[in-house]
Amino acid sequence: MTVSSQEWLKRANKVLVDGGSSASRGPRVFKPYPPYMASGKGSRLTDVDGREYIDWMMAFGGLPLGHAHPAIVKAGTEAIETGSHFAASIPVEVELAELVCELVPAAEKVRFSSTGTEAVMGAIRLARGHTGRKKILKFEGHYHGWADSVLVSTNPQSLATLGHPHSPVGIVDSSGIPSGAVEDTIVVPWNDIDIFRRVMKDQGHEIACVMTEGVMANIGVISPKDGYLQEMQKICKEYGALFYIDETVTGFRLGPGGCAELFDLEPDIVTFGKALGMGLPLSAICGSAEIMSGLEWGKVMHFGTFNAARAQCMTALAGLKVMTENDNAGFKKLRSVGEELTSELRALFNTQQKHNVILQDAGPLFQIYFTDSPSIDDMRSYCLNADAAKYNRFANLLREEGVYITPSNTLHSVSSIVHTSEDIQTTVQAFEKTLARLN
Ligand code: PLP
Repeated sequence: MTVSSQEWLKRANKVLVDGGSSASRGPRVFKPYPPYMASGKGSRLTDVDGREYIDWMMAFGGLPLGHAHPAIVKAGTEAIETGSHFAASIPVEVELAELVCELVPAAEKVRFSSTGTEAVMGAIRLARGHTGRKKILKFEGHYHGWADSVLVSTNPQSLATLGHPHSPVGIVDSSGIPSGAVEDTIVVPWNDIDIFRRVMKDQGHEIACVMTEGVMANIGVISPKDGYLQEMQKICKEYGALFYIDETVTGFRLGPGGCAELFDLEPDIVTFGKALGMGLPLSAICGSAEIMSGLEWGKVMHFGTFNAARAQCMTALAGLKVMTENDNAGFKKLRSVGEELTSELRALFNTQQKHNVILQDAGPLFQIYFTDSPSIDDMRSYCLNADAAKYNRFANLLREEGVYITPSNTLHSVSSIVHTSEDIQTTVQAFEKTLARLN
């Protein structure tokens, strides 16, 4: 029993909505109630009842170095002791931008902000300002934060509501979004180049930017089909629409240069978030000097009190140094931990007969699906084939075995550089026990 967590939930419900500050952490998905966490160290989280968990969520991907890594503790402590934020430009902001430009091929210039959503908002405004066009194109099941214009068709629905794949019904995911905010947002299914080409033929000349996740990471983990993103980039260039990769999830995790480097792409704009701040909120818009010059004073407006705050620039710089030193040893470790875990889990899934369960991964990201289908390729195949309720039961049972993964099948798990082979063995055993218990 985790009595203290129950008590905290009671207190939380009196003063917070849904027991916390985001539904994805609260009792909507964590059943029968969410654990309230007290501390994190390395690969482990400890809850308020003293129970320890191997953490495969790592702050929604914000902690490639795990919890309380000594380099981050040192940088963060120094920042708090000597000034966490000034109303001033600071050297560490320059040093960090220099490193980002060195690592990210598409980045000639950088503009920092605080969250992924903010960077996306800035990038869209920049694309519109640069091209003088209004429309943006996004893909079904791609989440780009909670800003009005992109909160369309992010949530899995019954297939009956999605419309024809050639002209999907754009489904606004929240009340409170005026229709005007989304009328210039075109929605297209992902991983189908013919549909994309057709839509671009009709509307490409009106589109400011085509925005895509490099790996679809908000319907679990779905990799692009071979050549899909390269072809998308080519078509964007044909129609003068900016090719924008939202690397909030993939950035500084799939490799030093993110998806763009991995798939050999040359996006016009890239945004980062999550892992960049190494546990503190920091995001970035990057692009060529020419496009980024659109953010100059008097052109496209972009502000933010906490943009490039000193504390997060210091943790980001310290963390990226750990990841890149010794010939990118951190990035290699991230990948090898992911590979070790996913190959062990796949072996387990193949030996047990009770459930039809598959695993999809990309570097350190992975998700499992209870499905009879051999793969999940886009949001529509997820809606049709994935048993999300069963996944939710699985994840909540798994926590009883001391392993913490997201209970939302649309999110994903991640590895860090501090997960050990022992963590992996313990996790695989917990999966085995939980699969045996699961109905
Ligand atoms: N873009 C992508 C691809 C994301 O996955 C997310 C968040 O999960 C965001 C943007 C929004 O980032 P934030 O939650 O930091 O606002």
